[in-house]
Amino acid sequence: MIRKPLIAGNWKMNKTISEALELANGIKRSCLDLTESVDIVLCPPFTALSEVAEVLTDSDIKLGAQDMHWQESGAYTGEISAVMLKDLGCSFVIIGHSERRQYFGETNEAVNKKIKAALKLDLSPIVCVGETLQERQKDKTFDVVRNHTEGALVDIDAKDMLKVTVAYEPVWAIGTGVNAKPEQAEVVQEFIRDLIEKRYNREVSETIRILYGGSIKPENFKDLIAQQDLDGGLVGGASLEIDSFVKIVKLCIP
Ligand code: PEP
Repeated sequence: MIRKPLIAGNWKMNKTISEALELANGIKRSCLDLTESVDIVLCPPFTALSEVAEVLTDSDIKLGAQDMHWQESGAYTGEISAVMLKDLGCSFVIIGHSERRQYFGETNEAVNKKIKAALKLDLSPIVCVGETLQERQKDKTFDVVRNHTEGALVDIDAKDMLKVTVAYEPVWAIGTGVNAKPEQAEVVQEFIRDLIEKRYNREVSETIRILYGGSIKPENFKDLIAQQDLDGGLVGGASLEIDSFVKIVKLCIP
């Protein structure tokens, strides 16, 4: 692994403020001296960002949001902007998660606008791409991943691209308990890195981190993180417990 690994916990629509505080404090206690080797990002729901930010102030663990709107402010009821996320202390934001695409009709165009808005305010986007089971069965995995990746990156230059992390998240593996086999993940991640090299250059493709996401657990992550093009994980379910999340972080340290 030539890039510093990154483990991001996507808490989704889970945890009240007091539960979030307990989880963040527990992770902080166990991970304080791990951040030199692994970048750790916690992505609580919007409602707990402020409190979790406070917990993380004296640590190198970073705060991330799970989504954002592309406008900075205005009449967009229910939405949260990059300005607001910066104000709360976020440095990362997940964009284009398959649950946003699937349940909220998020398109490549929206994903692209959100990435640009995030970059403008120096928020690092974690951009999710990945195929459904049906698409995989129809042999469309590479087409879908190319479409998501290229659609997300329209008009983003090489300098900005260095701040982007791509997460390969096969939809069939998210929350199902069935993770991609390490070789299945690697072949797609290598494909993404090649796409980025062709679109930008080798420096960019060798610098940016490509994460895997989909039913990561301490029991399956060792073989995944051993893959050459896998630089960490976007973790859903297993990020909701201190013990499993910390074990996953530790598996990144050889
Ligand atoms: C995710 O939310 O991005 C995810 C991969 O979830 P899980 O780990 O629960 O499959």
